[in-house]
Amino acid sequence: MLLIGSHVGFKKDSQLLGSLEEALSYGENTFMFYTGAPQNTARSKIDEELTLKALDQMKELKIDSSKVIVHAPYIINLCNEKNFDFSVSFLTEEVKRVEQLHLKYLVLHPGSHVGIGVEKGIENIKKGINQVFENTKDSNVVILLETMAGKGSEIGRNLEEIKTIIDGINNKKRIGVCLDTCHLHDAGYHLNHFDEFLDKFDSLIGLDKIGCIHVNDSKNECNSHKDRHENIGFGTIGFDTLMNIIYHKKLKDIPKILETPYIEKKYPPYKYEIEMIKEKNFYENLSDIIKETME
Ligand code: FE
Ligand code: FE
Ligand code: ZN
Repeated sequence: MLLIGSHVGFKKDSQLLGSLEEALSYGENTFMFYTGAPQNTARSKIDEELTLKALDQMKELKIDSSKVIVHAPYIINLCNEKNFDFSVSFLTEEVKRVEQLHLKYLVLHPGSHVGIGVEKGIENIKKGINQVFENTKDSNVVILLETMAGKGSEIGRNLEEIKTIIDGINNKKRIGVCLDTCHLHDAGYHLNHFDEFLDKFDSLIGLDKIGCIHVNDSKNECNSHKDRHENIGFGTIGFDTLMNIIYHKKLKDIPKILETPYIEKKYPPYKYEIEMIKEKNFYENLSDIIKETME
């Protein structure tokens, strides 16, 4: 069965239950959220009662909570020595929150080396993740390294860098990969030859390491290193190429998460994008449809 969802909110008062309700309102059977604002460290205490209510409801609806995704905040940067101790301790706390939510996957941007170079940056990432896993020894939470567009000094802009990080992680059971289609395209991978990409991924890292796929179209050309997401079918990747990835038989059980932009920065597009995906039918007038129903 297709596992499809989107980025949803996580509010202090409703927490996982609110995130689930938002996902359901878009017709989703999985979802992803940040445990607080992605750009800051303010985090509210996880409420066990709300968590258990949400998990109960998921069970009833046959939603596999082990495929629900948490995204770590951008301010974590394990590459950078200045931020290293802060990043390790914040990521440790984040892993504990995922644990408290009874979830499994935490997506992490590998980081930006900001001048110290890729090699040193990768060394710091390995060291940082190993330290986080030491700090959370009893946890089974898996960190998924996201493939990045290569904007600025981002690490994880190609599969070789991701592989090098994974090779340096002591507990291999707790490390995996999150593919982001916009980032891969902007990094220079030709997603219209997706089987070739998967073969390469398989020989380098192993397909069993893929824990999540962010499905986004891109506003920019292949190899642009820009990282600007576009609505499904409205960008340079295109509807057919994205559909081929979403329905690829080798990726059947992997959750697909949309992180596409709101229409006019106001209206969430996910309900209608998911409808297009399920119906395998591109809506050329997506934004008009959404605006009509919202206004
Ligand atoms: Fe991300
Ligand atoms: Fe992403
Ligand atoms: Zn992005």
